[in-house]
Order: sequence, then structure tokens, then C-alpha cells
Amino acid sequence: MIFKSINPYTQEIVGTHPILTSVQLRQKISLADKGFHYWKTTSFNDRTVKMKRLADLLRLNKTELALLITSEMGKVLAESEAEIEKSALNCEYYAEKAEQLLKEEINSTRFNSKTVFDPLGAVFAIMPWNYPFWQVFRYAAPTIMAGNVTLLKHAPNVMGCAKAIERLFLEAGFPEGIFQELTIDVPQVEEVIASNIVCGVTLTGSEGAGAAVALLAGKHIKKSVLELGGSDAFIVLDDANLEAAATVAAQSRMGNSGQACICAKRFIVTESVANDFTSLFIKKVKKIQQGDPLNAQNQMGPLARIDLAEKLELQLRTSLDQGAQLLLGGEREQCNFQPTIIDHVQADNIAFKEETFGPVAAIVRAKNEEEAITLANQHRYGLAAAIWSEDVEKAQQLARKIEAGSVFINSLVRSDSQIAFGGIKKSGYGRELGAIGLKEFLNVKSIVVG
Ligand code: NDP
Repeated sequence: MIFKSINPYTQEIVGTHPILTSVQLRQKISLADKGFHYWKTTSFNDRTVKMKRLADLLRLNKTELALLITSEMGKVLAESEAEIEKSALNCEYYAEKAEQLLKEEINSTRFNSKTVFDPLGAVFAIMPWNYPFWQVFRYAAPTIMAGNVTLLKHAPNVMGCAKAIERLFLEAGFPEGIFQELTIDVPQVEEVIASNIVCGVTLTGSEGAGAAVALLAGKHIKKSVLELGGSDAFIVLDDANLEAAATVAAQSRMGNSGQACICAKRFIVTESVANDFTSLFIKKVKKIQQGDPLNAQNQMGPLARIDLAEKLELQLRTSLDQGAQLLLGGEREQCNFQPTIIDHVQADNIAFKEETFGPVAAIVRAKNEEEAITLANQHRYGLAAAIWSEDVEKAQQLARKIEAGSVFINSLVRSDSQIAFGGIKKSGYGRELGAIGLKEFLNVKSIVVG
């Protein structure tokens, strides 16, 4: 069996990757076991030196790595380069901060007690294709700095990226067994989760994949962290700076060809500013040129796979049949999807209810602030949200009413090394990044002196 990477713009095969046999898989699992027994004994200083070298290597190879990302999943080169830079910054952040963030805590209890954070083993990661480097570095840099090792099952269309990342770890001086990619298919996942060295599993992807993996993790009593879908609300209130909001709206919905869990997907705008916001939004989105991701003139590439483009087209057609109004775009040629805006989307419309993983913005008109919050929360997902209002005090109070893992005020929702990231409801559970994310797969050990 072989995985094929297909360039979504040219439809050419850009890589073939034989799936591991069970013997090869077992060898990799046992290497992780050996790696962990050594790695957990290393000093923060040793880990820091290697992690910084890894950041340097990412930057040194940025052009070539960006080309690999673009050829495998189609984002424009500038976005691929930014992803490599963000991954390098994440390595540096945890290289510098992990020791301090994991410092033992002396507790003020009636006992003489403290809390320490010990590594547990191998974190098994199942990752998607939309940010083939960032999604990996987001979990791998902190967990490896904390003394764990990791095994990665990447999405089949970005196996070239997975292999490049493994090579970079080795080149940076990490011993074998600290970071390994596994070219495996879904039926082989349980063997990895069941193995003794695996202490937990982290998955970023669809709800279905999350539910299947959480079931296996539960069966084998392993912790799981799930970063699943989102249908983030982008709330524009009467007193918003509409020009700034429209600029960020275009960036948030259309960046990465709209293929991110934290892309704004539902633009909930109060009635009195809805027309003005919509005109500005259309103006910004019209400037986005979609096409060959290698052409620097283009700001948007194709969607990553033909089945994803077909699914999005079906969602769009259905939403129009259900009464939404097409304002811009709406056409598709193979994986190339025009930046699209639809208006008058109601809460029972498919574009409201389902995650749209591509460049389709749904404008939802709300009577007032209160209805805007109700509509934002009227969803199975709860990943993130944005509120636009010049009254920051009020926006912060409203943020407390939003059912989501993060709320950004007057700003682009994004993940950042320093801020905990994750969702509630069907968007999953657990956190990545920040001090909380760093501790997800550690033994939070209490030491009590009697
Ligand atoms: P999937 O969730 O199917 O894939 C993501 C990862 O999970 C891949 O590595 C995939 O491997 C793996 N996976 C899928 N099913 C299982 C399973 N039962 N057991 C173990 N691993 C599994 O996403 P798709 O690529 O098919 O995209 C479909 C939709 O998912 C998108 O349209 C979007 O809505 C959502 N999605 C959300 C992402 C996010 O960032 N939250 C990222 C990607 C997708 P394999 O491909 O081999 O099945």
C-alpha cells in the first residue's frame, strides 16, 4: 500500500510513500521507548540547544520547505514561508521558556507539599494537512522540551512534510526515537495507541476522526486532546470600526484558502451596520486573486483536495437553495474555489450549521447585540470567536457570554505559542500551547513531606 501526495493545483503526483509494515511499525514504537528512557534524563539546557538548532534549520531551509508545503497542499508560497517562520518561533519560545513554565510549585497547604511535572512517554499525534508544519510544531516543541518523545501520523497528502520534519529533528541533533513520523493508515492507529510507551494522543481534524480516536484512547486508558472543527463567529456591533473589521474579516475567512479551524465562518453583524460592513467586506475580498500558488501575484491557492472542494461546493449550492443570497464568487474549477460571500444566512441554513472548510463567508444579520450573542452561541462548535466594538470594556463583558475556547476583541483570531488554544462543545477538549498546553501530557505529581 502506498500514499500519494497530489499537487492540488496541477493534479500531478508529487510524492509516493509506502505504508509501514507491522514489523517496521513495531520497530519505530520500540525506538520511541528507547528514546524516551534516554530523553527524560536530559537537562533543559541540552534540550534547549537542540530545539534552537531546529529553529535555525527551519529558517535556513525555509524556501525549500515552503515549496514542499505548497506543492503538497496548495497554499500560496508566502503563507507557506510564514508557517515555517511561525514554527521556528514556537521552537525558540519553548526552548527558552519550558524550564521556567515547568518549575516545581511549592503549595501553600497544611502539608509541606509541592507539585512537579514529569514526562510520561510518547505523545501520539494525528495531524491534518492544513498547516502541515505548524500543527506538528505546535504540539511537538513543547512536549519534547518537557521530556516526552513523539510519534506522528500525518495526513496522507502531506507525508513529504512529515518526513522532512523528521529529518530536521535528526539534523538538529535530537537522537533517534525522539521525533518519528509513522506512514500508517487508520487501521494501524490502535496498535500505536495501545502500545505501552504511548501516554496519550492528540488529534487535530474532523469531529468524526476525533470521536473515533477518543474511543480508542478511552479503551486503552490513554489521555486525549482533541482540536476539532469550528464555525467561529465574527461579531460586528453597531460601534465597531468597520474598516478595520472588514480588513480582518477578509484575512480571517480567506487566509489559507479558508481552510483553518479558527477561520471566521459566520459573520454576525448588527442590522444598523450590516450594509456598510458588507460593502467594505466585498471590496476587500474582491482584491484577493485566486490561482497558481507559486505565482506571487496570487493571494489564494487552491483547496487541498478535490473531495474537499466538491464538499464545499455542495454546501454552497445547498445554502443558496435554502435562501442565502450570493454576493460574490461562487464558482469552482477543480480545486480552485473563488473567494465567496453569501448574505442573509439564517440559523437553519447549512452554511450556518456546518463547518465550511474553504473560502465561503456567511453573513448573518442580527437585530441587536443580544441576538448577535445568541446566534454566536447557537452552534454545536465552540472553538473561538471575535467581537468588534470600540467599547472594549463592553466587549470584554460580552466575551464572557460567548461559548468558545477563546475570544479575540478587535483582532484576528490566531494561535500563538504563549496563549492556550482549544475548544469546547464539539470543537473538542484539552488545550495546546501556553503553560496549560505544555502540561497536558505530563504527570502532575504531588510530593508531600509528612
Ligand atoms: P480528517 O479529520 O479525516 O483528517 C485529519 C487527520 O485525522 C488525518 O491524519 C486523518 O488520517 C486522521 N483520521 C481520520 N479518521 C481517523 C480515524 N478514524 N482514526 C485515526 N485517524 C483518523 O479530515 P479530512 O482531511 O478528511 O477533512 C475533512 C474535514 O475535517 C474538513 O472539511 C474540515 O471540516 C475538518 N478538518 C478540520 C481541521 C482542523 O484544523 N480542525 C483540519 C482538517 C480537517 P487519514 O486521512 O489517513 O484518514
